[in-house]
Amino acid sequence: MSRSAHPAGPRHADVLPEGHYQAPPTDLNALDEKVWPRTVTRDADGAVRVGGIEVTRLAEEFGTPAYLMDEADFRARCRAWRDAFGDGADVFYAGKAFLSRAVVKWLYEEGLNLDVCSGGELATALAAGMPADRIAFHGNNKTPAEIERAVEVGIGRIVLDSFQEIARVAHIADRLGRRQRVQIRVTVGVEAHTHEFIATAHEDQKFGIALADGQAAEAVRRALSLDGLELVGIHSHIGSQIFDMAGFEVSARRVVQLLAEIRDEHGVELPEIDLGGGLGIAYTPDDDPREPHEIAKSLGEIVSRECASAGLAAPRISVEPGRAIVGPTAFTLYEVGTIKPLEGLRTYVSVDGGMSDNIRTALYDAEYTVALVSRRSDAPSMLVRVVGKHCESGDIVVKDAFLPADLAPGDLIAVPATGAYCRSMASNYNHALRPPVVSVADGAARVIVRRETEEDLLRLDVG
Ligand SMILES: *Cc1c(COP(=O)(O)O)cnc(C)c1O
Repeated sequence: MSRSAHPAGPRHADVLPEGHYQAPPTDLNALDEKVWPRTVTRDADGAVRVGGIEVTRLAEEFGTPAYLMDEADFRARCRAWRDAFGDGADVFYAGKAFLSRAVVKWLYEEGLNLDVCSGGELATALAAGMPADRIAFHGNNKTPAEIERAVEVGIGRIVLDSFQEIARVAHIADRLGRRQRVQIRVTVGVEAHTHEFIATAHEDQKFGIALADGQAAEAVRRALSLDGLELVGIHSHIGSQIFDMAGFEVSARRVVQLLAEIRDEHGVELPEIDLGGGLGIAYTPDDDPREPHEIAKSLGEIVSRECASAGLAAPRISVEPGRAIVGPTAFTLYEVGTIKPLEGLRTYVSVDGGMSDNIRTALYDAEYTVALVSRRSDAPSMLVRVVGKHCESGDIVVKDAFLPADLAPGDLIAVPATGAYCRSMASNYNHALRPPVVSVADGAARVIVRRETEEDLLRLDVG
């Protein structure tokens, strides 16, 4: 395989086209600890390791593309959240970010609870031995069969999302002779994304029951009147990839106000509030996420203050980080296939995966970084766009980033911070075979979700 610069010559970073991208890094061989899993290192000879194993060896053994997950980092993040919130609060990992039986086992061992939002996620959680009472069930349209299964297995809580669901869950619980613990999900008129939050007067979205117009108060009335339901709290989830705590502040204030209204009207103080997930991570070195202990301190203070002013005993708080736990713990390893320099624009680098293993760039205009990991290079930087192999021009993995100008087919490149919402949103577009998730710890690698095969595809295609 050639290691020389391709014939047309790369686009160097000294003359850049218009666009929104980070400045070229001063050292392309450096792996910024903000975006890479904790055990990732680069040796003096250029070899990159995760969990003590060279990624070139992992590529040989498991193929590319592959998600490589740092188990020690995952566990450390679980512990950081647990320790930050302490025994007086609960941390529910949002399984939709990435769920597998190994992950469920790690969560269980590290003392976390688990959110699921479908029958499939519930089945995975139960198959891996998560006690049902440590699981919460979310979603705006849980099917009767899913609700029935959840109630039957004794799920810890169901988060009610609509008036129909209040009736539906109560009815199913009655029929099964159970009293189901539930929370009501309210929309508080706040939407938070990244560095800003927007206060909206009404909630134009599919999730939750609006606090505005007394809808949520009416939902509480109904839930309290039904024998099949034990209403234990109010739930609010305001957005995703949030760095600014101001949105949580407004949300917590409004939820506590509702608790005070419930006490005044019904004479009951609900014991729990859940403030949801959505805490941001660093996808690029420009992002500055909060540490779990800062988040815990800030949320704890907000809730205590609001409760004190409403004359309420502080309820038990729960939070639901998904991305903030698993997102930073994995990267996607790709092999470079073709390289196409476009004079005056950028160089297109095609990899052996794409939107089938990372839809976030196409879906949310997400930003990522990328690094050459199979060797070191002291070549100058070139502006690249990393694209996939799919039949879609929006098939972009990394919009704008810098790689060494001597990049060549056969090189391995890696995109960090792909632990959340990449494998879990992966598709078979173009009959792509979804990549494996390989967990690495202490010098040992293990497939936790295997690569799909053509037989897997054909097994579903019954002819
Ligand atoms: C998606 C979701 C989460 C997790 O969001 P992250 O951005 O992964 O932290 C938590 N709670 C609810 C209700 C959600 O829908």
